[in-house]
Amino acid sequence: MAGEPQADCLFCKIVAGEVPATVVRESETAVAFRDINPQAPTHILVIPKVHYPDAASLAAAEPQIAADILREAGEVAVQEGVDEKGFRIVFNTGAGAGQTVFHAHAHVLGGRGLNWPPG
Ligand code: 5GP
Repeated sequence: MAGEPQADCLFCKIVAGEVPATVVRESETAVAFRDINPQAPTHILVIPKVHYPDAASLAAAEPQIAADILREAGEVAVQEGVDEKGFRIVFNTGAGAGQTVFHAHAHVLGGRGLNWPPG
């Protein structure tokens, strides 16, 4: 069924506590944890507890949870102290855009200057 945990999904395993992660925030619908390979001094992933392969499919099926992810991303930035200087919320969507884990997730990046356009 849509949204159900997938046995072969790394981030579903993090939600279930089967794979360890450094969790910095948790809500009813979302978990935020440190990226294992940080690309900035602050690099947090915010993921829905339900499984959808990317942010677009999450938003189409569960718009309220997609909104929760954005709100949590903003809260993470405040909690990490990167909100005042600016931060970036990124949803890589599709392999061609650099997505490697096919469970919807927001990257929250901050703590250094961020160039535009991204690579
Ligand atoms: P994507 O490339 O799909 O947009 O982002 C996936 C992110 O997940 C990458 O930044 C990668 O470093 C991170 N990642 C991959 N495996 C793990 C893991 O086991 N634990 C954590 N905390 N992050 C991971």
